[in-house]
Amino acid sequence: MPELPEVEVTRRALQPHVLGQTVTQCIVRQGQLRYPVAPELASLGGQSIVAVQRRGKYLILEFSSGALIVHLGMTGTLRYFTAMRPPQRHDHVDFLFSSGALLRYHDPRRFGALLWITRHEENMTTPFWEIHPCFTPLGVEPFDAMFDGDFLYRRTRGLQCAIKPLLLQGKLVVGAGNIYACESLFQAGIDPRRGAGRIGRERYGRLASAVRTVLGQAIEAGGSSLRDFVDASGNTGYFQLQHQVYGRTGQSCVRCGGPIRHMRQGQRSTWFCPDCQR
Ligand SMILES: [Zn+2]
Repeated sequence: MPELPEVEVTRRALQPHVLGQTVTQCIVRQGQLRYPVAPELASLGGQSIVAVQRRGKYLILEFSSGALIVHLGMTGTLRYFTAMRPPQRHDHVDFLFSSGALLRYHDPRRFGALLWITRHEENMTTPFWEIHPCFTPLGVEPFDAMFDGDFLYRRTRGLQCAIKPLLLQGKLVVGAGNIYACESLFQAGIDPRRGAGRIGRERYGRLASAVRTVLGQAIEAGGSSLRDFVDASGNTGYFQLQHQVYGRTGQSCVRCGGPIRHMRQGQRSTWFCPDCQR
């Protein structure tokens, strides 16, 4: 399942190819994804892509009249082809460009989404598409300057819930999915069961840095796959990092040598070192 790093790598891979390209036509072969494919795609002809952005796990292609908001769901991929090629199974949507190239949305399980928001007057600080309801529940971006220990500290005062499920919700900060939450808490030395309201400012500082480091490393690891997004018909690999705790039940902690423990928190698996994480 694509997480924030995969979506960011998709953005970086596609941007140099699609930016400035003019759409001649959108072909929708299967309009029933998680939500119906936006009908506005039918009138995209003649419009150019003016920006390629990301917010959380959403990819945003800006046009002059609005923005296409793409969520890859469980199995979605976007690939760029320099010339037309016959569609394969699960190739649901094509964006044909005047250059002869195309951008193709592929999604076997069809949990993805192609949404539209019409452009309106923007203020200086937030892009116009941010008012789409899909962005309302999202926390801050991990690489945003406002995401730091002080931010986490202030937002968690009085909260009784454990820090790990709180991170997974994505309402504080986006991108800390299960793998990245486990790894960040290990790096920061914080027990995933610790009450969020009982973690100090300094330890939250370490957690904010850890979240950025872990996500940054994953994005960097995906950098080697950039060319797989262009003229590649195989699976665009979702990359895996060398994990320090995730999935390592019973194996030795890289810090203290003790056994990594597995437990369930809510419906999710958590891995941690009971000695290094307090
Ligand atoms: Zn340890």
